[in-house]
Amino acid sequence: MAGETGYCVKCKAKRVISDAKEVTMKGKGGVVRKALKGKCPKCTTTMFRILGGAAKKKK
Ligand SMILES: [Zn+2]
Repeated sequence: MAGETGYCVKCKAKRVISDAKEVTMKGKGGVVRKALKGKCPKCTTTMFRILGGAAKKKK
């Protein structure tokens, strides 16, 4: 997965997420949400991007 962008709160700018990995986070009621976790290429601040409506349903 390359070229995914997120918002870096430290740079206050959009960056391409470096070393992006897809992770799952459990929410209330056992709801699993997909998210992208990586680092800002400029300042190495951890960046998160919630993968909302784009997630495909799998059984
Ligand atoms: Zn940054």
